Amino acid sequence: MAFSKLGLSEKILEGVKAMGYSEPTPIQLRAIPLVLAGRDVIGSAQTGTGKTAAFALPILSKLGSHAPGQSPRVLILEPTRELAAQVETAIRDYARFTDLKVTVVFGGVGYGKQNDELRAGTDIVVGTPGRLLDHLEQGTVKLDKVEFLVLDEADRMLDMGFLPDVRRLVERCPRKRHSALFSATVPPQIETLIQWAMHEPETI
Ligand code: AMP
Repeated sequence: MAFSKLGLSEKILEGVKAMGYSEPTPIQLRAIPLVLAGRDVIGSAQTGTGKTAAFALPILSKLGSHAPGQSPRVLILEPTRELAAQVETAIRDYARFTDLKVTVVFGGVGYGKQNDELRAGTDIVVGTPGRLLDHLEQGTVKLDKVEFLVLDEADRMLDMGFLPDVRRLVERCPRKRHSALFSATVPPQIETLIQWAMHEPETI
């Protein structure tokens, strides 16, 4: 099965081609059509399976091009700054033939660059929960325009004690949105989060 049969936009297919990917991985094959169809998706997948592209490619396809205005339409939560930076890089690569704007936000560094990028307006925010909450409280980011929410490595966010922060962030997103959650394991606390945050999700 070729990427070109999955319904992705031309610009995103160009990005995939430039990455040198020839065929979708199993999780991409299942997730991409579901996300394009507007379904909520739960992926029991670890790093290395191609899960980043599984959620990023259909979301970027649906976004199309940069929307004027400040507030992000996509929020991607990651447990660590390393993962946030990796996912930001992957998204920049996949979206390189579009004018979509992506901003990464994590703690342990200054606020200046993050504030500048958020104020200039961005389509996609990738970040760790703590720093995102700081931005929310300082008013540098608003989540009321979020259409797509991705909770990546949810079990690691649980292990690191981030679930209360995750909940506070999700509460600030519109109820009407699409959500995707990735987790290598689904302990009861993640099951509860799924029940609370997702709408008739398909598990893959
Ligand atoms: P991930 O599981 O998202 O961290 O991706 C693991 C690695 O697989 C990354 O280096 C991706 O660039 C690469 N990758 C993702 N999808 C594909 C694909 N369809 N074909 C080849 N490599 C891929």
